Amino acid sequence: MSTVALITGAASGIGAATARRLSAGGVRCVLVDLDGAGVERLAKELDGTWLAADVSREEASLEAVALAEQRFGRLDLVHLNAGISGRVDVTAFDVERYRQVMGVNVDGVVFGVRAAVPLLLRSGGGAIVVTSSLAGLVGYVGDPIYTMTKHAVVGLVRALAEPLAAQNIRISAVCPGFTDTPLVAEAREMFVNAGFPLLTAENVAAAVESAFYTDVPGTLLIVQPGRQPVPYRYAG
Ligand code: NAD
Repeated sequence: MSTVALITGAASGIGAATARRLSAGGVRCVLVDLDGAGVERLAKELDGTWLAADVSREEASLEAVALAEQRFGRLDLVHLNAGISGRVDVTAFDVERYRQVMGVNVDGVVFGVRAAVPLLLRSGGGAIVVTSSLAGLVGYVGDPIYTMTKHAVVGLVRALAEPLAAQNIRISAVCPGFTDTPLVAEAREMFVNAGFPLLTAENVAAAVESAFYTDVPGTLLIVQPGRQPVPYRYAG
């Protein structure tokens, strides 16, 4: 019986690289993204299944999990990865944009966990990896609302680690530095000119795969260019 994974934000960047990596290892994938054409294309390439949906809506997660059950009969791995940057000036922000960033980066993860856990349990357990960020561990002055959302999901992972582990579900987070994906396209030239090394989406996908199989629930895996991923150690 094949392992089955659900990946959000799968049409591009880190999500697409994770889907390719897992598929290459024989995992069957359910790919979810707002970009319907992109996610359909990748699903065809990987012989997976796909859903065009907005993860900030609870129904998206419920539909995606139902699709996994209908198509593959089980669910083992969940990569809650869809995310958008904030570019929100906290002293004069656009409320719509603020709600959108919170909706995708925080609600999308909460709804994803909530929808996936029952099917993971029916499948005998499994693993959830959330894409946080280095900005989930330290303050990123360029984007305070984004930083807040990435801290929020780290808090969720830390609080859920033990109770989910007791049900044979491991939850962890990857915390990558700047990664060369469309998310950072605007700043890419600045990074390159400054000689600032960027991760590739494939670097992060490798860390996601290892996080799925960590035996330490609540692991926050720091991913930086040119180094092996290391678990973040915190007091308490
Ligand atoms: P990306 O823009 O290449 O991919 C993000 C994907 O999420 C896109 O396909 C987009 O269509 C999808 N998406 C956006 N809103 C959505 C929604 N409402 N519902 C469903 N899908 C939606 O960016 P990426 O860099 O691969 O980002 C993936 C994750 O990695 C994000 O959570 C991001 O915050 C995080 N991250 C990125 C970096 C970086 O430097 N690129 C660093 C740390 C963490």
